[in-house]
Amino acid sequence: MTQNDSEATPVRVTLAKCPICGEPVEPRYRPFCSRRCADVDLGRWMTGTYRVETEETGDPDEKE
Ligand SMILES: [Zn+2]
Repeated sequence: MTQNDSEATPVRVTLAKCPICGEPVEPRYRPFCSRRCADVDLGRWMTGTYRVETEETGDPDEKE
């Protein structure tokens, strides 16, 4: 095995773009460019999934 190849290999990750804003992807936040965009995407599908539960658990009349 050649260890040198791991760093010399052209990585296509650089071509990846954030699906939210189109900025270059940051490896630590893959597949997004930042944590904010990751949150945005997470929030998108969470609202779709959570909606059912939120409506049943929500107590609009309850006061603190
Ligand atoms: Zn982004």
